[in-house]
Amino acid sequence: MSSTMWSVDEHLDDILGAVRPLEPIELQLHDAQGCVLVEDVFVEIALPPFDNSSMDGYAVRVADVEGADEEFPAVLTVIGDVAAGSGGLPGGRSVGPGEAARVMTGAPLPAGAEAVVPVEWTDGGTGGGPAEAMRAHGDAPEGAGGEVRVHRSVEARAHVRDRGSDVKPGELALPAGSVIGPPQIGLLAAIGRATVKVRPRPRVVVISTGAELAQPGEELTGGRIYDSNSFALTAAARDAGAIAYRVGAVTDDPDTLRATIEDQLIRADIVVTTGGVSVGAYDVVKEALSSVDDADGPGGVDFRRIAMQPGKPQGFGSIGPDHTPLLALPGNPVSAYVSFELFVRPAIRALMGLADLRRPTVRATLKADEALSSPAGRRQFLRGTYDAEAGTVSPVGGAGSHLVAALARADALIVLPEDVTSAEPGTDTEVVLLR
Ligand code: AMP
Ligand code: MG
Repeated sequence: MSSTMWSVDEHLDDILGAVRPLEPIELQLHDAQGCVLVEDVFVEIALPPFDNSSMDGYAVRVADVEGADEEFPAVLTVIGDVAAGSGGLPGGRSVGPGEAARVMTGAPLPAGAEAVVPVEWTDGGTGGGPAEAMRAHGDAPEGAGGEVRVHRSVEARAHVRDRGSDVKPGELALPAGSVIGPPQIGLLAAIGRATVKVRPRPRVVVISTGAELAQPGEELTGGRIYDSNSFALTAAARDAGAIAYRVGAVTDDPDTLRATIEDQLIRADIVVTTGGVSVGAYDVVKEALSSVDDADGPGGVDFRRIAMQPGKPQGFGSIGPDHTPLLALPGNPVSAYVSFELFVRPAIRALMGLADLRRPTVRATLKADEALSSPAGRRQFLRGTYDAEAGTVSPVGGAGSHLVAALARADALIVLPEDVTSAEPGTDTEVVLLR
């Protein structure tokens, strides 16, 4: 254990200095959601792939409808339907002078046609008004014969989406470094990509320790409490973008803990433990890991004190043949959660290759009934609720690191710097937004 205190930033820098982005793999689109692309993706087809209609209506030649109006409609012979998904008119026919083809939105513009007249501007082949026209337009295929009266003229290419008007072959669809969100998945699918090369989601194994821990659903017998950390941290890991495995509670026995960690290494890119890192007896994580040196190379887990509250005792190092990073967090639920937010979340995001490792921070006016006190020389993280409209932040609950109900009501952390010992209401404060 180092005798000096580490600052929050030194500890985080030490962690981030040791984690490298994971090796890229080829993933199916849905599995790539939230991941960072490592290749430039170029478009190989035009989008749209062919000229197509943006309306339900009739594909016509411009000269045939020139000057058409309600009083003197252009009367055209309907020669057939072009359905979405068809290559054009049946038999490869084209639209000739005095002719029209019925088209649905997205259907290819048939050969010979220059524009589309929306069905609302026609009688829909019914001899009636626009309402009837629109009702009749859906009828297939008998609706596609006879004549159609066109009540308005159109310009060339009207209501036509040009081939390649979205993207053209050879253009860059997404540059390397893009984060794959829903619209990016949509674009990749639209250009026909089934898989992409991305950095995978890190696999995070969460292990809680403590002989006092019972699992939710079990009966609580004397002196026991429910294991909330392994649930909260597994959820937080998932929220950060990881694939998270909750191992649950291991009793305060160093050999059992060592064996459990070794068993889990096969599926871990990071191991997170909670509890057993302070200075008391039964500090199982410290006991189990202080003595473990990484077999070949720099490694082992260093237990240190961080100038923060909550979350003073922390462990960090690497373990096993692959030097898997391990973060040992304190056991108090609020300490564990705050430590996760400050140290584990950035590490997960660094493994993913993301550029934004940290939660957004804002400045807000402290809204409180009385001054908040903060220990000298320690960066304090109090739970708060942030009001974006008012630009204020209010503390919820006290500083106690066992207050899980207050934590569940908070959406922000109020940061009181090392040199602050008292913050008056109205003070301008740093706030970490948790959502
Ligand atoms: P420790 O550092 O292991 O002594 O834990 C500090 C405090 O946090 C003790 O009051 C523990 O009972 C509590 N604690 C430890 N682990 C958990 C957990 N997984 N869930 C809820 N409370 C815990
Ligand atoms: Mg314990």
